[in-house]
Amino acid sequence: MNIHEYQAKELLRQYKVATPDGRVAVDAENARQITKEFGGQSVVKAQIHAGGRGKGGGVKFAKNPDEAAELFKKMLGMTLVTHQTGAEGRKVHTVFISNPVDIEKELYLAFLVDRGSSRITLMASTEGGVEIEEVAEKTPEKIVKVVIDPAIGLSGFQARQAAFALGLSGDAFKKAVTFLQNLYRLFVEKDCAMVEINPLVITKQGDVVALDAKIGFDDNALFRHPDVLAYRDLNEEAPEEVEASKFNLNFIKLDGNIGCMVNGAGLAMGTMDIIKYHGGSPANFLDVGGGATEEAVKNAFRIILGDKEVKAVLVNIFGGIMRCDIVANGIVKAAKEIGITVPVVVRLEGTNVEEGKKILAESGYNLIVGNDLKDAAEKVVASVK
Ligand code: ADP
Ligand code: MG
Repeated sequence: MNIHEYQAKELLRQYKVATPDGRVAVDAENARQITKEFGGQSVVKAQIHAGGRGKGGGVKFAKNPDEAAELFKKMLGMTLVTHQTGAEGRKVHTVFISNPVDIEKELYLAFLVDRGSSRITLMASTEGGVEIEEVAEKTPEKIVKVVIDPAIGLSGFQARQAAFALGLSGDAFKKAVTFLQNLYRLFVEKDCAMVEINPLVITKQGDVVALDAKIGFDDNALFRHPDVLAYRDLNEEAPEEVEASKFNLNFIKLDGNIGCMVNGAGLAMGTMDIIKYHGGSPANFLDVGGGATEEAVKNAFRIILGDKEVKAVLVNIFGGIMRCDIVANGIVKAAKEIGITVPVVVRLEGTNVEEGKKILAESGYNLIVGNDLKDAAEKVVASVK
């Protein structure tokens, strides 16, 4: 799960990680008021779960309180397109007013879980403010990686190594070391997957502050953090994915036209591969999991059919714990209650497969049976051609 910059900064403050003062404005008048409190100038920042806002027009400097109010009005409700949002962009529901900072240097800093070493890794670079992917491609030597031993944590010498690599000295060096240690504590205690500070700024006054903050959390650990879960913003998630999560179903939106209902993530991958192999393209996949009920299968169908791109559906179920007759009954229920408007190809295998096939055959609905996975894939691809 990801959160907004303003929420990330609330967490930073809890952990005594320095960040400029800032508040969410509820309306234009409030934006004006906050800017006054900051001494008459502010930075007005659109809150969406995507980076590159600066270049896309989502971060603007206000020279006076009236300008802040104007910028607030323009930004709220606008569709912001950045290189991370895709062409459709994201609607701005929240606007954050930040105290401006006199920037001396923009640096880059991140903690993330490195799968290669299975350890939390600190990444630091003097090339802040720009996309780190670009730095990694063109000047990889400018990124320093520090791998952290989980039993020891971020040790003093490692924090100093990173601060040194950032080209810091004197007071800023000491402040950066404290900054890193507090940020690492946040990362571990809140079960983060990624914390990115870009830019980390050295101010003209010599302070070290997080000007931007992006935090992602390990979804499997969210149950331990109700405070973090409260930050969830459903506006930032695909509506179908939100709907599916209500029924403990996993829905992933893709860009083709064949809807896929499967059980298990591995089978989902295999199903998508075989659709592609036969010249088709998946619109989504919905994983009903191991022990879904008829009701869940019906809802899965409703969600798949709710995707306007879907021109046909492939149901590919391997009945292990999941029983094929339950799947078949769920499909028939969906046909009865929701109506099925596109070709549906069903391939069932495993526990109670004969009962399942019988239920489908006797249902009176036009459900196409796939004799095996290859046959099913060919039939579903042919149905959209
Ligand atoms: P994004 O990464 O989405 O583009 P940032 O928060 O990093 O958004 O802002 C983009 C740029 O805007 C920063 O690199 C910085 O130069 C400037 N900026 C952002 N917030 C402030 C601030 N409080 N004071 C001064 N400049 C800022
Ligand atoms: Mg940034």
